[in-house]
Amino acid sequence: MAMKIRGTTRGAARRNFACEAQYFTEEQAEQKLAEFRWQSPDQQVCPQCGVLDRHHRIKGRRQWRCRHKGCGHTFSVTSGTSLDRCRLSCRQIVRLLIHFEASPKGTTLVSTSNAVCITEKSAQQNLMKLREAIKENLAGGNGSKLSGTIHMDGMYVCGKFRKSNRRIKATVDSVLARHGTAAVKRRLPAINPQSKWNQRRAKNKRVVIAMVEVDDESGGARRVVTAMCRSENAADVLLLAQQHITVGARVFTDESPAYNGLGAFFEHHSVNHSEEYSTPEGVNENLAESFFSRVRRSEYGVHHGFRPMYMAFHVHELAWREMQRRGTQHEKVQQLASWLLTPGHSRYWRGYHGGNRRRLLRRPRPEIVMGNVDAPWQDTRSMARKGRGPETV
Ligand SMILES: [Zn+2]
Repeated sequence: MAMKIRGTTRGAARRNFACEAQYFTEEQAEQKLAEFRWQSPDQQVCPQCGVLDRHHRIKGRRQWRCRHKGCGHTFSVTSGTSLDRCRLSCRQIVRLLIHFEASPKGTTLVSTSNAVCITEKSAQQNLMKLREAIKENLAGGNGSKLSGTIHMDGMYVCGKFRKSNRRIKATVDSVLARHGTAAVKRRLPAINPQSKWNQRRAKNKRVVIAMVEVDDESGGARRVVTAMCRSENAADVLLLAQQHITVGARVFTDESPAYNGLGAFFEHHSVNHSEEYSTPEGVNENLAESFFSRVRRSEYGVHHGFRPMYMAFHVHELAWREMQRRGTQHEKVQQLASWLLTPGHSRYWRGYHGGNRRRLLRRPRPEIVMGNVDAPWQDTRSMARKGRGPETV
């Protein structure tokens, strides 16, 4: 019986999978993954014809052969999924999932490579496949719209100006008076937004908009929907709110003018952040700020910076962590495994090291992609530069 303290499963009750999984043999790991994928201990779905049956087990090859008449397809537990032709053993896949689940703010390539005994290069590809699977399953808020009370806010990520080389606490004039040489003049002011490098950095600036549904029982976050925009503007905010929030729901925001249009469709309340974090009536958006704190710690502490190309993948991963923060190991690993082993290849990370890069995808490829995703040209940079709304929803 899991011990619960304020709705959180703690201690040994939460660690209900790694202790068992560390002694897995290859067969047991494969069996576990097959259970996660097909929700059955002894039946498999043939990826070719889709028949659920006890297919013929090929001895010594960790494969099955389809029993269906006229098919005879040979498949393994990873066939037809984003891990298709993956060279990790089943034990390594299980270890990867446990390691990924265990880090509250995301994990690094080096620590994954040590934990799973793979190279950093392989760790990168497999971690990104996991993030892609999370993104495909969380994008669009998992179907139903948010309702009840929603905290909504934006946060600027990436695109920070470089700090000046010189620590200047005095005014520009006093420094000039003291070191008034041409060389010093070129370095002033302390941060020059017009410089070539800072202009280049500014292009990477993005806003993460988060909509967090409040759990009425615990008061914490129940669901988090995130999107990336070029700026915190009224048009994008309204579009996102209409896409993801039920009409008439209560939406709490700060006093940024970007949220002014919400009142027409929702019960909109705002809190003035220059005065207070929460009004006496309880209007606040602390759950959105709490999510942003996780994103910021991940950006600074784990990844040391995001880039727009894959930022949405990381942000969706963190949204998943926020939602699953109270789950047990087994629940989280099961969810990740079932998403990762969904039929359909990884679009952006299949053949990555063979040259398949996200920015090169100008038109869709004739292959199965994961889930119901937007056309690839819609989420490349060029589309967003024309100001056609949120980059990745
Ligand atoms: Zn078949």
